[in-house]
Amino acid sequence: MAQIVKRAYRYRFYPTPEQASELARTFGCVRLVYNKALEERTRAYTLEGRRVSYAESSALLTAWKREEELAFLNGVSSVPLQQALRHLQAAFANFFAKRAGYPVFKSRKKSRASAEYTRSAFRWRDGRLWLAKMNGPLDIVWSRPLPQGAQPSTVTVSRDAAGRWFVSLFVEESVRPLDPAETVVGVDAGISALVTLSRPIPGGTDGDGKVANPRHERAGRRRLAKAQRSLARKAAGSANRAKARLKVARAHARIADRRQDFLHKLSTRLVRENQVVVIEDLTIRNLVRTHTLARAISDASWRELRSLLEYKARWYGRELVVIDRWFPSSKLCGACGALQKAMPLNVRAWECACGAVHDRDVNAAKNILAAGLAER
Ligand SMILES: [Zn+2]
Repeated sequence: MAQIVKRAYRYRFYPTPEQASELARTFGCVRLVYNKALEERTRAYTLEGRRVSYAESSALLTAWKREEELAFLNGVSSVPLQQALRHLQAAFANFFAKRAGYPVFKSRKKSRASAEYTRSAFRWRDGRLWLAKMNGPLDIVWSRPLPQGAQPSTVTVSRDAAGRWFVSLFVEESVRPLDPAETVVGVDAGISALVTLSRPIPGGTDGDGKVANPRHERAGRRRLAKAQRSLARKAAGSANRAKARLKVARAHARIADRRQDFLHKLSTRLVRENQVVVIEDLTIRNLVRTHTLARAISDASWRELRSLLEYKARWYGRELVVIDRWFPSSKLCGACGALQKAMPLNVRAWECACGAVHDRDVNAAKNILAAGLAER
């Protein structure tokens, strides 16, 4: 049975100077409204032990717009400001449901600048997009086609730290579950290999289940490290420092883009080829902060891969099983079930007393699969 899902299509675009300054103003107002509403909610929560509703913060926004020193809020489209309040509402709902930490302020430097427009605040005609309070359609680079006849329901505009502009169009689409697959797979998260699968995959390194990190990543990381070193040498507040910071941001963005692309392809493939995909819950890793670039990237990738697998499995009628984080996947012998006492990170291959010889990661992936199938 087909189901209707909301899918985002993201593109780069090039604003006119006029559009760019209107958007920058809008981003600033979105951030201000979000932060002010957060402040108010925090005050009500800590001083009065009370939760502020969306309607209440929306009424506050109306009041702020009447204040003289906040009158500039009237200069931008009101929809992105309302959407900021909705996002804050969602952040608090997640906090109260213990799914997320307490919402934090949006910072001009550290948060991604963005504004969300709903139907009433944009016009979409013949594949062209106009935003409220802005002249002319956006100059969008259509790097992949939108599905035919697509009608975006929401449009999000953002600018990343590297100064690149993006527009995401949310489109309702009907997806059909795939025909059932016979195969199942366990996925182990790694650092040297991005992930290791419980069975060999065509195109894997050495014919085993290892999925290597995307190509060019080493070069990208080297470039990033170099840019970071150069930034560290620049005097605070200097023009050279700003330039160096932009270089760091660009190097970061390049790695992130390639990763994203890679993870999309990997998750699609895992979901297409397997009826059941088993992964480990690795949220615990967040507590073990080892500040290496490789680790940070691999943790971010893992979270991203998991969320991609979650929604694609739902879309295509597959099953994603997440097993307990305490399961000793690396220490169990997949052949006889004996539990090893210790398995230091540097051990890549080992031999069990039963005579089985294991690649550490492949064995772990097989154990994850077995545990997931048992848990279902
Ligand atoms: Zn054994």
